[in-house]
Amino acid sequence: MTSILKSKIRQRILVTGGAGFLGSHLIDRLIADGNEVICVDNLFTGSKRNIEHLIDHENFQFIHHDVTYPLYVEVNQIYNLACPASPLHYQHDPVQTTKTNVLGAINMLGLAKRLNARILQASTSEVYGDPLVHPQTEEYWGNVNPIGMRSCYDEGKRCAETLFFDYHRQHSLDIRVARIFNTYGPRMHPDDGRVVSNFIVQALLNKNITIYGDGSQTRSFCFVDDLIEGFIQFMNLALPSNGGPGFPGPINLGNPCEFTIKQLAEMVIELTGSSSKLIYQPLPADDPVQRQPNITQALLHLNDWYPQIQLQEGLKKTIEYFDKLQLQ
Ligand code: NAD
Ligand code: UDP
Repeated sequence: MTSILKSKIRQRILVTGGAGFLGSHLIDRLIADGNEVICVDNLFTGSKRNIEHLIDHENFQFIHHDVTYPLYVEVNQIYNLACPASPLHYQHDPVQTTKTNVLGAINMLGLAKRLNARILQASTSEVYGDPLVHPQTEEYWGNVNPIGMRSCYDEGKRCAETLFFDYHRQHSLDIRVARIFNTYGPRMHPDDGRVVSNFIVQALLNKNITIYGDGSQTRSFCFVDDLIEGFIQFMNLALPSNGGPGFPGPINLGNPCEFTIKQLAEMVIELTGSSSKLIYQPLPADDPVQRQPNITQALLHLNDWYPQIQLQEGLKKTIEYFDKLQLQ
């Protein structure tokens, strides 16, 4: 096991996409650990509501900025999360999605190089496309349509990974590439379009639950707190004592418990006590049939990391959050 940086040295940290779902939880944790955080976001899918409790905090700063343009700040670490994650939103302006992934990565890598800062990329299980290998290991190169509706996101994220590894090889940049599998929890946008938020909102409003396809496609759902713990541990892996480069990844981060979409719908109905009915709608193009992370690499490199919160418990916490929003 690679050792984790134990010392609580206060870092100055940039989080791009910090007003989004994952970014805002990450910032909460970084601030709670005593760090200074600069949150950069263009508020495309993120919201000031997600960070409003931090606005007056002395260690927090918000900058309204689009990562496709260069940014000049002084930090020791960068978490690059800026990019819409829901198919509905990333397909809304696919050219901007590719620009965010590619130009955003170039700008953040350039910043990291100038500052000699460590930089973590929020990559995705989508780099495996509609996988022919199951569960997915990091060695698998994927099965991705380069010209389809999901390509702006999938290929954009793949190109970002290429850029990260080229900066690592060419400029000895200290990088971390994390491939995130479907993560859910409080602060997902109610109109986000992703399956967990859609089903919970529909169930709470007693509306029909929209299953795309026959519901036999699978996903493996990770609760946000487990993902953030993996992020922080991965970012803070200590460099080897022989002066060699740190472990760049890529590593899969997610919960390996796999469910069909129909099972998820039934669980949400049961937990909400909803009278919603299941309805079946066409499956979107290139929708992956099966997805489950092999997390052996994460278990090997991180410090006793394993997802602690199982789906039923995580759904309860997420339902509680959406219930308080008083949806209409
Ligand atoms: P999200 O949509 O809630 O957050 C993304 C944030 O990025 C938003 O606040 C948005 O306003 C911001 N953003 C988008 N384009 C930007 C730009 N050009 N400049 C500055 N900010 C911009 O999504 P999320 O679920 O929090 O995802 C965060 C990151 O994690 C994304 O990079 C996503 O690809 C990755 N990821 C998430 C999941 C998941 O299941 N949640 C899975 C795989 C990968
Ligand atoms: N899905 C669904 N109903 C919805 C939203 C999504 O059946 O209202 C399906 C979608 O087709 C996919 C799965 O749920 O098979 C996960 O979709 P999501 O958009 O959350 O994530 P991704 O496809 O990017 O993993």
